[in-house]
Amino acid sequence: MDVAKLRVNGKRLRGTLEEMAKIGATPAGGVQRLALSDEDKRARDLFVGWLKELSLEVSVDEMGNIFGRRAGRSNNLEPVMMGSHIDSQPRGGRFDGILGVMGALEVMRTLHENQVQTERPVIIVDWTNEEGSRFAPAMVSSGVWAGALERDWAYGRTDINGQKQGEELARIGYQGKLPAKKWPTHAYYEYHIEQGPMLERQGRTIGAPKGILCLHWYDVYLAGEANQVGPTPMEGRHDALVAAAEMILAVRALPARMGGNMVATVGEIQNYPNSRNIIPDRVHFTVDIRSWDDEHALKSWDLLKKDFQDIAARHGTPIEIDETWRVAHAPFDEKLVQRVLETAGQLGCSSLHMVSGAGHDASYMNQVCPTAMIFVPSIGGRSHVEVENTRWEDCEAGANVLLHCILKTAGEK
Ligand SMILES: [Zn+2]
Repeated sequence: MDVAKLRVNGKRLRGTLEEMAKIGATPAGGVQRLALSDEDKRARDLFVGWLKELSLEVSVDEMGNIFGRRAGRSNNLEPVMMGSHIDSQPRGGRFDGILGVMGALEVMRTLHENQVQTERPVIIVDWTNEEGSRFAPAMVSSGVWAGALERDWAYGRTDINGQKQGEELARIGYQGKLPAKKWPTHAYYEYHIEQGPMLERQGRTIGAPKGILCLHWYDVYLAGEANQVGPTPMEGRHDALVAAAEMILAVRALPARMGGNMVATVGEIQNYPNSRNIIPDRVHFTVDIRSWDDEHALKSWDLLKKDFQDIAARHGTPIEIDETWRVAHAPFDEKLVQRVLETAGQLGCSSLHMVSGAGHDASYMNQVCPTAMIFVPSIGGRSHVEVENTRWEDCEAGANVLLHCILKTAGEK
C-alpha cells in the first residue's frame, strides 16, 4: 500500500468528538470536564475502551496519564508519541485538548484498519490535569512525567474545596502503578486548536508554532479588616478588595509599561466574606504573565511585586505572595516544525509559522525529546469558553497532518 495516500476518516473523527462532547456537556454547547471529576473518569473509561478495541498496550501511570502503545517493526527503537488532554476548563469548549487526543486516536484507527506497520512504536497519551483550573498548576502530569515537577507535591495540591489531587486520582480509579517517569522518546507531536485568532485572520488551515511562551503563575493573598460598612468611616479602612483592585489595574498596565512583548492577566479572584455590607478582610487573586522572553517576564514581575507591596502598605492590608509556577519558554525542534509545515503543504493545506501563547503539555515534552505542535483555526479566535468551535473540515485536515507527521517520524530508523 502507498502510505502517502492514507487519509483519516473525518466522519468517524467527528462522531468520536461528538460522543466525547456529551460527557460533561453544558447547556450552551460547551463541556465541563474538570480534572479528576466524575466526568473526567467517564471520558477516560470511554477512551480506554477505544484504545483496547485497537489492541493497543494500555497503561496508566501514578499521575493517571494514560498511554496506548502500538508496536512497530523495531521495538528496541525509541517510540514516537502523540496526544494531549481530556480534561477541560469550567464551562470550557468541545475541542481544547480533546481534539488532540481524539485526533491521535483517529490516526491509530487509520493505521490499524490499513494494517500499517511503522518502523518505530507509536504511543498515544492523555495527560492528566492539563488545565490546572481545579488543581493548580497546569500541565502538572506531563511536568511530573518529564521530571520537572515532584509527584508528591502534585499529589498534595488542593482544589477550592480542599480535596487533594492525589486522593481524587485514587477516587476515580486512575492512580496507576507505573512510575510517572519519562522514557527515551524519539519525538512528540501535539495536535490542538489554536485558541487564538491568527489562523482565521490569515485564512490558513494549519499552524506550526515555533514554540510556546514562558508561563509564570503567582497567587496573591491580602488581609484587611472586616467591619460594618455603614458606621465605619472611609478614613482608616483596611479594605482588602480595594487594594486588590489597584493591584489588578497595575497588572493590566504592566505590558504597556514594559514596552510590549508580553501579556499579563488576573483571571481569578476570591473575596471574603463577600457580603455587600461587610468591608472585605481577605482576598486571593491570581496573576498570569507570559512572554517569549523569560528574562523580560521576570523583570516585569519584580516591578509588579514592588508595586503590590507599596499598594498593600498604603492600604494597611498585609500581603503574601506565592510564586506558584514557572515554565520557561519552549522553542520547539526546528526540524520537526518544518516537517509539520512541509506535510501541510503536501496535503494541500495552507499553513502558518507562528508562536503559541497558550501553554500545552508539549512545553514539558519539549524538555524530553524533539517536539512540535499542529494547530487548526479556532472560529472567532475563541477558546476556554462554551462557544469554542472549529470547522469539521479543519479537524480532519489537522488529523491528516498528524497522521503523516507520525508516518514520517515513526518510519525513521
Ligand atoms: Zn488544551
